[in-house]
Amino acid sequence: QYPFDVEAIRDDFPILERLVGGDPTSPGEDEGDDVDLVYLDNAATSHTPDPVVDAISDYYRSYNSNVHRGIHQLSQEASVAYEEAHDVVADFIGANGREEVIFTKNTTEAMNLVAYAWGLAELGPGDNVVLTQMEHHASLVTWQQIGKKTGAEVRFIEVTDDGRLDMADAEAKIDGDTEMVSAVHVSNTLGTVNPIRELAELVHDHDGLIFADAAQSVPNRPVDVADLDADFLAFSGHKMCGPTGIGALYGRRELLESMGPYLYGGEMIRKVTFEESTWEDLPWKFEAGTPSIAQGIGLAAAIEYLEDVGMERIEEHESLLAEYAYDRLTDLGGVEIYGPPGDERGGLVAFNVDGVHAHDLSSVLNDYGVAIRAGDHCTQPLHDELGVAASVRASFYLYNTVEEVDALVDAVREARDLFA
Ligand code: PMP
Repeated sequence: QYPFDVEAIRDDFPILERLVGGDPTSPGEDEGDDVDLVYLDNAATSHTPDPVVDAISDYYRSYNSNVHRGIHQLSQEASVAYEEAHDVVADFIGANGREEVIFTKNTTEAMNLVAYAWGLAELGPGDNVVLTQMEHHASLVTWQQIGKKTGAEVRFIEVTDDGRLDMADAEAKIDGDTEMVSAVHVSNTLGTVNPIRELAELVHDHDGLIFADAAQSVPNRPVDVADLDADFLAFSGHKMCGPTGIGALYGRRELLESMGPYLYGGEMIRKVTFEESTWEDLPWKFEAGTPSIAQGIGLAAAIEYLEDVGMERIEEHESLLAEYAYDRLTDLGGVEIYGPPGDERGGLVAFNVDGVHAHDLSSVLNDYGVAIRAGDHCTQPLHDELGVAASVRASFYLYNTVEEVDALVDAVREARDLFA
């Protein structure tokens, strides 16, 4: 019933074979590990398949070297692989070449890059930046603080009771003084898929820009920056089968060209005197210092892995699991699920069980080997709007199965009965 051979995919992820249950303060010692791992925390971090681990290991084993500067062979090999990784990302998201792809540490750093390099220069009193109430702190806190530094107002598009963006409110809030809309593409809490293209149209009509936070969409569905009409877009490698320490910022070329650097130092300069400096071409102008070379190469390998499976099929698979989880949890009774209906969401389900604190629920689930997230998922103001301090979140990826959703639901039932 799956769109691809999930068992064959699982074979590429040895970690999924792991047992858990032992003492987490002594990792690596498997004493006490006796339950199957059911990993449903993919929106936080996904696992890394063997071909990606091999690509990283191959770099360290056979051509580890600094990039850009060297004439020697290893440095040239590393430079080609690292630079070509930008081309792989560009092709994956429909950008016009590597000039539009900057490697960052993660989505958060990409957001800060634009907020500092563009926002500090362009924003001032009288301007506004429009966010959504479902922004991740990566975007919310960043623009909030840039607002304080520049005097620009930060506004929030409201979320409807059924977890969608209130587009009438969007039309009211986005106006002639809006310089930037920063909107999460797929909400990491509600699972809502936001209409980035419509928001882009609204803000472009007022000559403003749009930044799409694609941390929960690029890993999970086909994303094309031209289709979305995004001016900026960001995502993290560790949520898409890649390593930590690498993410990407897409920016429209003329915008990136018009912006000054974010960080200064080596690798991003062309000519330096004691008095003045000039900058490298894109994208290197925004990649100061020695970059995350192995991680960039690993990200490209992760994209190749995902493309082999097919992004449409990954989206289909996750939707199937999310809808199934939504229906089964609803049938259980006493479960409040946040966000839109099961067939209209990204591959995640955040919920609470009546009378059970999210952390207690998560802890009981851990006893059953089920790894999910408990807390505010870096959306504290949204949780305030929902009227809860915390929730648990199950999030699915290409290697998850219907049986794992069943294990989740069984464990939730046990927890509910335990605390009832
Ligand atoms: N935005 C969204 C929607 C996210 O889900 C996350 C990760 N939870 C981020 C931004 C931040 O990603 P990172 O921590 O990799 O910077």
